[in-house]
Amino acid sequence: MKIIVQFLEQKLGKNLMLECEPSETIQNIKKKIELQVNLSLEGFCLKINQQYAEDEQTLSSCLNENSQVCVIRVFKKAIGGGGIGFEFNSMENSIQKDYSLDAGEQNIIVDGLNVDSECQNTSCKFYNQKVTVQLGIGTFNMVDLCFSENYLCCVCKQKPQDLFQNPIMNNCKYEISGRYLPDGKKNYEIFKKSGEIVKQYIVFEDAQNEKRLWHSLIVKTERLCLTHQKCIEEKI
Ligand SMILES: [Zn+2]
Ligand SMILES: [Zn+2]
Repeated sequence: MKIIVQFLEQKLGKNLMLECEPSETIQNIKKKIELQVNLSLEGFCLKINQQYAEDEQTLSSCLNENSQVCVIRVFKKAIGGGGIGFEFNSMENSIQKDYSLDAGEQNIIVDGLNVDSECQNTSCKFYNQKVTVQLGIGTFNMVDLCFSENYLCCVCKQKPQDLFQNPIMNNCKYEISGRYLPDGKKNYEIFKKSGEIVKQYIVFEDAQNEKRLWHSLIVKTERLCLTHQKCIEEKI
């Protein structure tokens, strides 16, 4: 069957087409991809149909019935934690901030969700520097985010590094839900948090060692009404 392999890492190239048998193991498919891109996939994992595929699984065990085409996404493996997952902010620690008038163009945020990444475009003014990725209002699967059409450097509009962090919620209602692996545990725990932030923004930040291994993480943002301050006053 036809397989479409998607990479975000620019050094691995863009999409790739492969022909594979459903009975092939993921390990075997990894080898085929390695031959095509001429690089080792050590430190990467594959995701098929929103599930992480383990080396010993067969391709058919990862597919839905009657699948004709299969899309495999190649991810950088989470650092530490031992399992496959997505290392990201704990979403426990946030700091509320006021807008600053001297924010540079690489730090401009939009209403809703924004994240930090690093621009990889050598012709961008902010090459190799921290840039904001403006995601805005919507539902965002953070594990898959770097494959999204909206995942762009806010200055040059090119795909930045696929490692991103420190989500910012700006002037919106938000809902965060996910599953994460607590330190030293074997079972995932459910995470839920919601709130609203009016004409200010909050940044979720952690020290490196406080990051969490997520299995899934969805952030949903909603626009506030134009006269929201009035809504709040009326409620009180
Ligand atoms: Zn850029
Ligand atoms: Zn309102």
